[in-house]
Amino acid sequence: MSSRAIRGRLLSFRQRPAGRDDIGAYSYVEDGLILVDADGRIAFSGTYDASKIPAGVAVDDHRPNLICAGFIDPHIHFVQMQVVGSYAANLLEWLNSYTFIEEQRFSDPEHGSRIASAFFDELIRQGTTTASAFCSVHPESVDAYFAEAMKRNMAMAGGKVMMDRECPEELRDSAERGYEESSDLIAKWHGKGRNSYVISPRFAITSSPAQLAVTRVLRDEHPDLLLQTHVNENRDEIKKAGELYPDYPTYLGIYADYGLLGPKSLMGHSIHYKPHELDMMRESGAVAVSCPTSNLFLGSGLYDLAQADRNGIRSAVATDIGGGTSYSMLRTMDEFYKVQQLKGGRLDPVSSFWFLTAGNAEALGMEADIGRIEAGKFADLVVLDARAVPSMAIKMERVERLEEELFMLQTLGDDRCIAETYVAGVPMKSALSL
Ligand SMILES: [Zn+2]
Repeated sequence: MSSRAIRGRLLSFRQRPAGRDDIGAYSYVEDGLILVDADGRIAFSGTYDASKIPAGVAVDDHRPNLICAGFIDPHIHFVQMQVVGSYAANLLEWLNSYTFIEEQRFSDPEHGSRIASAFFDELIRQGTTTASAFCSVHPESVDAYFAEAMKRNMAMAGGKVMMDRECPEELRDSAERGYEESSDLIAKWHGKGRNSYVISPRFAITSSPAQLAVTRVLRDEHPDLLLQTHVNENRDEIKKAGELYPDYPTYLGIYADYGLLGPKSLMGHSIHYKPHELDMMRESGAVAVSCPTSNLFLGSGLYDLAQADRNGIRSAVATDIGGGTSYSMLRTMDEFYKVQQLKGGRLDPVSSFWFLTAGNAEALGMEADIGRIEAGKFADLVVLDARAVPSMAIKMERVERLEEELFMLQTLGDDRCIAETYVAGVPMKSALSL
């Protein structure tokens, strides 16, 4: 039985486009209909046909707006909402001067709950329906995060950061505590509602060899879980990781040796690779998660998508709030595009929207449930209004093709273009008190 009908132009991807004109990579329906079942999944998607709509079901008519699968942000720090826009020379100064101070506040469950509520409001405002987040070292921050996700029935991934050195005493766990707290949180939250727990050693600098060893135990005990961390973001960070792990010729080699590299590994940033590390990424099937606004803000470097593609490395694109400077995946793709321009590469707008939806879903291994508009998937959707502001409406007078509209949304768009965000078929943005 359908609980909702949604009408508009529908765009959904079958596979990563080979280029702007690869029309076989996606389906586009000029006047489309989505029927949502009582479980929040898509019962039907295709051409609008009034006879398919059961009696008594009202239609949310979004014409002429464009409906895509909800945006997916595969790397974000929910505990850094009050770190965004902090003035620092580079990554390590930014961590020590602001981030490691701010994250201490998450020992207080009330603070965690307040920020979680604001965080999820912001994701919905931006059309982001799934994210993989780093919480703080405190289990309370994970409780706040997943409790809020369940309230909203959102498919969220995340975990407590494990860190037992090179940070303030208040933010340190230990190898044993990191293992025990992570194990308890997995039992408490993974698979509850739409939650996915992610094993989250922050990075090799803040995890001792003993902690990376227990991280491997966690992985072996929970082979179905994702793992997220940071690697090769910034030159000073790479140097420091080398000093702390002097036996390893490469940064990535540390994670590989501790058994932390595989197809469920989300390797944040992944900018400065040595040739051998490119081979490790390809052979392991790990995902390089690029965070362009963060990399520009902290002056970390420029991710090379063409190099990743040439080497058969999987890529995803994320905000990395609070090193990142926008919650908007549209703004993020705009910066990703510009970074590729500086690298001498080219990213077509159709491929951009694959990254935002089906591509990032595949990176998280969630493609069975999200990332596409098709029967059986959750009705996590974003409605995009390319005429949301006067300057865009004027430009739209000159836009004739779908890919031109997508490129404009990416180049000029932000939360004002998000006309609605659906989570499991329920309109969420219009329900927010803005
Ligand atoms: Zn990060």
